[in-house]
Amino acid sequence: MAGYEHVRVAIVGSGFAGLGAAARLRREGITDFVVLERGDGVGGTWRDNTYPGCACDVPSHLYSFSFAPNPEWPRTFSGQEHIRAYLEHVTDRFGIRPHLRPRTEAELMSWDGDALRWTIETSRGGYTADVVVSATGALSDPRTPDVPGLGTFPGPVFHTARWDHGAELDGKRVAVIGTGASAIQIVPELQRRAAHVTLFQRTPPWVLPRTDRAVTGPERLLHRALPLTARARRGFLWGIRELQVQAFTRHPEQLGLVEAVARRHLARSIRDPELRAVLTPNYRIGCKRILLSNTYYPALAQPNVDVVAAGLSEVRGATPVAADGTGAEVDAIVFGTGFHVTDMPIAERVIGADGRTLAEAWKGGMRSLRGASATGFPNWMTIVGPNTGLGNSSMILMIESQLNYLADFLRQLDTLGGRTALDARPAAVDAWNERVQQRMRRTVWNTGGCTSWYFDASGRNTTVWPGTTTEFRRATRRVDLAEYEVLRGPVTPARPGSVSRVVSQSVSQSEEGV
Ligand SMILES: Cc1cc2nc3c(=O)[nH]c(=O)nc-3n(C[C@H](O)[C@H](O)[C@H](O)COP(=O)(O)OP(=O)(O)OC[C@H]3O[C@@H](n4cnc5c(N)ncnc54)[C@H](O)[C@@H]3O)c2cc1C
Repeated sequence: MAGYEHVRVAIVGSGFAGLGAAARLRREGITDFVVLERGDGVGGTWRDNTYPGCACDVPSHLYSFSFAPNPEWPRTFSGQEHIRAYLEHVTDRFGIRPHLRPRTEAELMSWDGDALRWTIETSRGGYTADVVVSATGALSDPRTPDVPGLGTFPGPVFHTARWDHGAELDGKRVAVIGTGASAIQIVPELQRRAAHVTLFQRTPPWVLPRTDRAVTGPERLLHRALPLTARARRGFLWGIRELQVQAFTRHPEQLGLVEAVARRHLARSIRDPELRAVLTPNYRIGCKRILLSNTYYPALAQPNVDVVAAGLSEVRGATPVAADGTGAEVDAIVFGTGFHVTDMPIAERVIGADGRTLAEAWKGGMRSLRGASATGFPNWMTIVGPNTGLGNSSMILMIESQLNYLADFLRQLDTLGGRTALDARPAAVDAWNERVQQRMRRTVWNTGGCTSWYFDASGRNTTVWPGTTTEFRRATRRVDLAEYEVLRGPVTPARPGSVSRVVSQSVSQSEEGV
């Protein structure tokens, strides 16, 4: 198409997933690709979340790429700025920078069934691509609830993922809405700086101690001199979590011991029995994401912090009001209310073979084959797709497994030769999802007695992977061609660059599960 740059692969997004995909392509010898990124630079989550206290809940030696170890991590749990710097380093080390197209938002992607390729409209011109890798992030587009009266609030209002650094919060009265992972990192910071903090809590989280410490000079020296020691450390961190996950996925009844640790953690900081009751969860630990903090409870015990034990229901002038009628006048409102997870925004912008958007195809809930591909969307892969999230370990493990799948997908296309595309077979997608949902039934996420952002509007958990990371790695090691319909263009196109018809090649089907 005139005016459109053609590439073999277009990657959308430059967080861990997009950069990981780019590094993997380069390591596979593929250089004909671009990375489209709507932001100014790389980093995704770790570029956008700049709120005070933003840090990772997984140790750095595990929350990093296995193929790009960093012996220099300064702390066991890194802060946002160090993770962002690491991703800048990965961008340079793997030669990704020349492929990067910053400030380029993918606005519409449509499948061209004749040419067997994608047409991509962006905020900076058009592309065509044989394969699209969608790496737009599950926790990328902030969700702010539609609260009546919010528009009339006179002070600054913002979401944690879009922190307003111009807003003066020192010595002010601040309302924090939500008690998720971001909110509990912010509250201790605000408690120190603000005159008063009012925390609106719909559900109390389970909070465990955070075993964060500085990585010592000798440790770093050892990891630098003997990379094997860094690998061993990573292996240890991974192994512990791999063992723990069994309790989440198969034996939630075993989590009572962990609850006891969390209760003691709470009791140690919160002496007031009334406040302690308000902060004690009434669901099984692990059902919602377990949070790690040594400063959250001590902050809540300070006289300049109030916990309102109900969610925000409206704003009257300068007063946010909770569902139980409690209100407090404030100068600023900070939303820690999560992201569009089960309604992936990119899905509205992808038009498949039958003219429907991915969002329409997923009206009844997100469904994919092995977390990657969707029927009717040939040669389109998502990294961190449906049911690839983790409750207790590093997302980078799942991302790397999906990169294996992507690399094999591209290899298979090469082997098939000519102009070809792979479209996930409906039966394979059904079989995969049935198995995933069947395994989900026993998990703590489904049985723990909580509501969480893991569930979509129809009540299906389409977010979390109900197994170990090893199982997922095994399930995504290779692309099983029997799970795909192979679409072929003619051997000799009538016109160069065009295809007159598409012949679908029938192959046997496999119902291999998780
Ligand atoms: C505050 C916070 C803390 C977290 N802590 C942990 C943790 O402790 N452990 C853990 O495992 N995970 C954690 N996560 C989850 C984290 O998001 C993942 O681990 C990982 O960073 C996701 O990487 P990603 O590349 O899939 O997505 P992202 O990092 O979100 O990157 C997506 C990129 O796509 C870009 N993009 C989106 N739409 C478009 C478009 N239409 N066109 C062009 N570009 C687009 C975005 O700008 C962004 O740069 C945390 C998330 C948050 C928000």
